[in-house]
Amino acid sequence: MTRTAIVTGAARGIGAATAKRLAADGHAVAVVDLDEAACADTVAAITAAGGRGIAVGADVSDANAVRDAVARVAAELGAPTILVNNAGILRDNLLFKMTDDDWDAVMNVHLRGAFLMSREVQKHQVDAGWGRVVNLSSTSALGNRGQANYSAAKAGMQGFTKTLAIELGRYGVTANAIAPGFIVTDMTRQTAERIGVGFDDFVAHAAKEIPVQRAGQPEDIAAAASFFCSDEAGFVSGQVLYVAGGPRA
Ligand code: NAP
Repeated sequence: MTRTAIVTGAARGIGAATAKRLAADGHAVAVVDLDEAACADTVAAITAAGGRGIAVGADVSDANAVRDAVARVAAELGAPTILVNNAGILRDNLLFKMTDDDWDAVMNVHLRGAFLMSREVQKHQVDAGWGRVVNLSSTSALGNRGQANYSAAKAGMQGFTKTLAIELGRYGVTANAIAPGFIVTDMTRQTAERIGVGFDDFVAHAAKEIPVQRAGQPEDIAAAASFFCSDEAGFVSGQVLYVAGGPRA
């Protein structure tokens, strides 16, 4: 069945792959990112493959922007019942060097953003008596040097997911989290730059530590999101799936 999906942070990386995958699954997809123009490539790929997508510029941490964005999606594509909270940023630093802004910026995009988007979209999900929420956590939720802010936010995403599953289950809405390991995107490229390592070396080094001996690709995460968003996953809720090429947790 065709539904309307919103994927945040979908101009690139995991979000772009997930938006394309959900469109290929037959859904109309709103490609949401900070800069509407930056969503053009994802939308063009969806359209070229015969799907339906629109670009929507919104800062997910801004309540007014979120309200306007979800209203626009409902008007242009139909009531959104699938939500993938993927938008994310890094502000890595060791605790003693981490600024207030580093902390707040990460909390605002990951946690406040997922909260605002979910609160706005659940109205449409409850009306429809069906919905899917997928939240992007991370293996960093288990703790990671230099990421006090990010690991706290990604652990928070897991608690948030479980609570949504409990509150919204009676309305036919499931909520699940995906916790990726090392995925080749601009985000991991940024980490390599920060620590002064060439990206190819960084990826090769990471791959050696991963049981399947390769780094993840955005499509690996998109495939898991596709499953959680499917009709047949209706009895799977409140789960955290580590997609990391090996066991975690
Ligand atoms: P990415 O390539 O950096 O893409 C993230 C996207 O989110 C960017 O397009 C970014 O826009 C957008 N964004 C940032 N702040 C936003 C805001 N306030 N409102 C709307 N959009 C915003 O990252 P990625 O690697 O694909 O990561 C996607 C998600 O997976 C994130 O939640 C990340 O934490 C998580 N994750 C990634 C990995 C990994 O290895 N890559 C591992 C575990 C978890 P701008 O470009 O304009 O900033």
